[in-house]
Amino acid sequence: MRRFDAKKSRRIACALVPGLLAATVISAEWETITRHSGWKQHSMRRPKPPVVTPAEGNGQPPADAVVIFDGKSLDNFESPGGGSPNWTLGDGYFEVKPGSGPIASKASFGDVQLHVEWASPDPAIGKGQDRGNSGVFLMNQFEIQVLDNFEAETYADGQAGAIYGQYPPLANATKPPGQWQTYDIIFRRPRFDAAGKLVEPARITVILNGIVVQNNEVIYGPTSWLRYDPYAKGPDKAPIELQDHGHKVRFRNIWARPLPERPAPDAVETAPIAVVPMPAAKLLSYAGEYSLNTRPNSPPLVVKAMDDHLIARFPNRITEMKLVPVGDGIFQFTETDAKFEFAPDGKSLKFHIGGDTRTITRR
Ligand code: MG
Repeated sequence: MRRFDAKKSRRIACALVPGLLAATVISAEWETITRHSGWKQHSMRRPKPPVVTPAEGNGQPPADAVVIFDGKSLDNFESPGGGSPNWTLGDGYFEVKPGSGPIASKASFGDVQLHVEWASPDPAIGKGQDRGNSGVFLMNQFEIQVLDNFEAETYADGQAGAIYGQYPPLANATKPPGQWQTYDIIFRRPRFDAAGKLVEPARITVILNGIVVQNNEVIYGPTSWLRYDPYAKGPDKAPIELQDHGHKVRFRNIWARPLPERPAPDAVETAPIAVVPMPAAKLLSYAGEYSLNTRPNSPPLVVKAMDDHLIARFPNRITEMKLVPVGDGIFQFTETDAKFEFAPDGKSLKFHIGGDTRTITRR
C-alpha cells in the first residue's frame, strides 16, 4: 500500500498526456483556492445543515432567530455601562432619547444575520450628518450608518447604509423621513490567531429596503471618525449597539441569527487515499465505454487506464476524473466522495455517489 500524492500524480499525468497540460496549469492554482475547505465533493461525512423554519411574513424572525425587540419591551437591551436603557418605548417601537447614550443588546453576537427596522424623525430636522443620525454597531466597532439622507446632502461614506467612513452604500435606497426602513445585515467577524495577529478581516453585507448597498465588503478596521484605526483582538462576541447621536430615530422589529462556523474536515476526511497498487493488465481490463443512461445514441462514459490509475470522462464533460485503486475492482475518485466498483464479470460497474448507487453497463 502507498499513499496517493495528488500533486505528484498530476505532474506525471501531465508528462504522459500533453493534452492535459493546459488544464493542469490552470488547476494547480484552482486547487489552492477551491480545495481550501478540504472536504471531498459530495462527501457523505460532511455534516448536514440544521433545519430552519422560515417566517411567514417578510422581515419577520425565522424560527431560530434571537428576538431582540418584538415591539413590547426594552428588556433585551441595557445601557452599555449596565442598567436599564433610558430610551423611549412607544407603541410597537422605541426611540432614541437624546443625550441618554447608546443602548446595547444583552445578548452578544459574532458572525450574525441581523434585521433592524428604523425611521428617521418626521418632519426632518437639521442637515448633513445632523439629520436623523443613529447607527447600528457590530461588536462595538463597526458602524452601519443610520441617517436621513433622503433628498438631503451629506458625504458619501456617511450616508445611510454606509460602513461609516469606509464604504459608501452602493445606492441611496433611503425612504422619506418617518417611513420605516429595513436593514438586513450579514456580518462575519474578524479572525485573529493565538498571538492576536489578524488572519481574516471582518466582512459586511447590507441590504437596505431590499437593495444591496454593501456587498461582502472587507472592513479595514474599526469604523471611526477622522482617522483609520487598526484591528485589535477582542472577544469573539459582543452586544449589538444602537447609537445616540442626539436625534429621535425610531427602531422596531430587531432580530438576529447567530451564524455557525462551517464544520472543518477532520483527519479522516483529509487523509491521503490508501492506494492499493494494481497490475497494468488488470487496470486495462476495466477500460472501455459504459452506458450512463439508456437514451439511444447517448454518448458513453469512457474509462481509460493510465499509469497506475483510471481516468473517467463523463458524457458531455471535458474534464477527466482520476480514480485510484483502493481494493479489488474498487476505485476511489480523488476529489469526490465517490467510487466505481467494477463487477467481477467485467460487464458493469456500480457508481457510488451521494448515498446512491447506480449500475452502469458496459457497451
Ligand atoms: Mg451614526
